[in-house]
Amino acid sequence: MDATSRLPTVSLVGRPNVGKSTLFNRLTRSRRALVDATPGVTRDTRAAAVACGGVTVRLLDTGGLTAGGDGGDVITRRTHEQTLAAVEASDLAVLVLDGSRGLSAADRELVDLLRRRGRPLLLVVNKVDGPRQEAFLPEFYELGAEVLPVSAAHRRGIGRLRDRIAKALGPPPEGEDAPASGEPAPAEATEPVRVALLGRPNAGKSSLVNRLVGAPRMIVTDVPGTTRDAVDTLLTRPGARDILLVDTAGIRRRARIRDRVEKFSVVKALEALEDADVAVVVLDAREGISEQDQRILGYVAEAGKGCVVACNKWDLVQGDPDLSRRRRTELERAARFVPYAPRLFLSARTGRRVDRLLAAVDEVAAQYEAEIPTGRLNQALQRALAARQPPMSRGRHVRLYYTTQVAARPPTFLVFANYPEAIPTSYRRFLANRFRAELGLEHTPVRLRFRERE
Ligand code: GDP
Ligand code: GDP
Repeated sequence: MDATSRLPTVSLVGRPNVGKSTLFNRLTRSRRALVDATPGVTRDTRAAAVACGGVTVRLLDTGGLTAGGDGGDVITRRTHEQTLAAVEASDLAVLVLDGSRGLSAADRELVDLLRRRGRPLLLVVNKVDGPRQEAFLPEFYELGAEVLPVSAAHRRGIGRLRDRIAKALGPPPEGEDAPASGEPAPAEATEPVRVALLGRPNAGKSSLVNRLVGAPRMIVTDVPGTTRDAVDTLLTRPGARDILLVDTAGIRRRARIRDRVEKFSVVKALEALEDADVAVVVLDAREGISEQDQRILGYVAEAGKGCVVACNKWDLVQGDPDLSRRRRTELERAARFVPYAPRLFLSARTGRRVDRLLAAVDEVAAQYEAEIPTGRLNQALQRALAARQPPMSRGRHVRLYYTTQVAARPPTFLVFANYPEAIPTSYRRFLANRFRAELGLEHTPVRLRFRERE
């Protein structure tokens, strides 16, 4: 018997390709405790213990259901039967539907099939990445009150899903799995902000992490990371959102073993970056800004991540006005790729302004995830056009008609135009900057895409 089998069981079910595996990974990645193979259910079923709003559950990722169930080949049929068996054995079934298209007849059939089983059921509409898919939601809401839109790929609604799962299961038995603090969980638990600390060896990353984890009233938890051997550090602060420092194992180890020198690894930095919402780029004010620092800032810009530039060891230059001026100039030049990044001049050694770092991360994260109402967005577009029209192209007037946000993390806007290919880079940049300035997005990159419309 495996260690998770006494936990309440929640199975993810749904047709192939609706995003069950992606959702499973999303739910397990930051708070995974252990994973088992679950023999006997299906070959493909994965299971993991997952924390949901103060309750730990055993989450099963099942093979897949087909509407009707008796169609298809032998393997499909068996998967279908095994999935139904998993549902029978679960305390809660989460039926995942594909929200990138409208509700289908097959979806309705599946809902009926599962409702007839009489097991507690939660309906999740996945792939609701942005406003475009939200347009389909009214169809899904017709299915009942328990419909919850999420985007596994863009991490939308995942905190709410955890809460719904906890609520559907009811309170944990006395003395078991109760939240350690005894405090009620917040009404809408949000996902932690994922932060990567990047910088050259010796810039002061481990000193900085030490300062952060040592701050008063901070609760620090090690959690397994996404890649093998990776360990992330979860920082829980009173009254503020959790912060997950991704892949901090090496950084924290170095903080304990003083003389171990890190080799800068581009691959590791890129992996951590890929997995983060916000990159904190740590620079060494004593050494000055190097080519490697510039390259790191270039990667962050290219990845379209939020960014905070932390110019560390400021204690060593602040007494020297010439040197500090020189460093500031160097920094402006190096950080031109990330004009949206707040800059902090701090000292991990003395602790000066280190408290501002997490505040800056919070602000960047909030903007990075922002969803702008379409009306406001189009007002910004109209004002930008009033200030400056796109230049004529081969005697043609280039017109921009309408814009809508198609993704967050970072905010991504689709702009409809008559000749998208004729809009020069300089005008694209102007428009992006106007959007950032007008929509409260000064501290996040934004992306613009253009599409043709007559
Ligand atoms: P499963 O067969 O139900 O386990 O589905 P997968 O997790 O393998 O996902 C099927 C496809 O849908 C993959 O290409 C995923 O990248 C994609 N996908 C999953 N979640 C989302 C989402 O939230 N938004 C979008 N746009 N695609 C998603
Ligand atoms: P990492 O390789 O980026 O993790 O850098 P470390 O945190 O190991 O720091 C490298 C060296 O710089 C150590 O000797 C630290 O004591 C020193 N250091 C780190 N932060 C500061 C700072 O703010 N001021 C000063 N003067 N030294 C620092």
